Amino acid sequence: MKIIIGKTSGFCGGVLNAVSKTEQELEKEKGKTIYCLGELVHNKQVVEKLEKKGLKIIDNIEEANEKAIIRAHGVSKEVYEKANNKGIEIIDLTCPKVLKIHNTAEEYAKNGYFIVLVGVEEHPETIGTISFCGENSCLIRNKEDINVTLDKIVKSNIKKILILVQTTYSLQKFQEIVEELQQKLNAEYKVCIQNTICSATKLRQEETEKLSKQVDAMIIVGGKNSSNTKKLYDIAKINCANTELVETVKDLDIKNMKNYKIIGIMAGASTPNESVEEIKNALMNT
Ligand code: SF4
Repeated sequence: MKIIIGKTSGFCGGVLNAVSKTEQELEKEKGKTIYCLGELVHNKQVVEKLEKKGLKIIDNIEEANEKAIIRAHGVSKEVYEKANNKGIEIIDLTCPKVLKIHNTAEEYAKNGYFIVLVGVEEHPETIGTISFCGENSCLIRNKEDINVTLDKIVKSNIKKILILVQTTYSLQKFQEIVEELQQKLNAEYKVCIQNTICSATKLRQEETEKLSKQVDAMIIVGGKNSSNTKKLYDIAKINCANTELVETVKDLDIKNMKNYKIIGIMAGASTPNESVEEIKNALMNT
């Protein structure tokens, strides 16, 4: 059996930064509870490990006493305001790439643009980003939302449009949405497109596509609640029918995998390398 592990597999820069800074904070404040607004990363195993060291996940910033960690996905403007009002210190581990999108959205909104954000509706990053887009903005979840968006743009009377996208959205779907939107907006509109899909996401999706065409089976490793992991699964499944999405080695049907000669492994941005290694070792040693 040949096992090929994707080179772009595992923690991205933003997640690595969030996890290591949280570990440092827990070490510095040993014995104390450190609050984190929402799961630090979309990976159960990573979060459980940090919880054992004193991390407490909260759903509302007001549950924190003195300070709270903001995870890599970022949060909405209201969260910063509430923390400020309550005197809660923020340890802001929002990925710099996400912060850049917040700043861009705010700047363009101030300059009179209508902002279109393409993203997954309930994803924390999208919830955070849309709050920086101002009143004249709208979220496109998929192609079905294009006509509603066009109506909103027309009603707003704004002729300058900025299109942004969630960092982990599918590049192919984004391109399709932008193409259709541009076709439907006539020449009187000035459309500014910023492809804010993170390069780490783009490279990972491209490698997944390439790898899934070369192997007999694909294993995608990552949290089932992770948006970027689910997209990797979708991409791989198109090219390789024998694609499995697993959180840990325990979810893997190793016996079935033994039927394949070449197996590709790719992991989402919140998946630690040890999860990938465990799977590789299980395949090699069974
Ligand atoms: S996927 Fe990209 S934007 Fe999102 S946290 Fe990782 S490095 Fe940052």
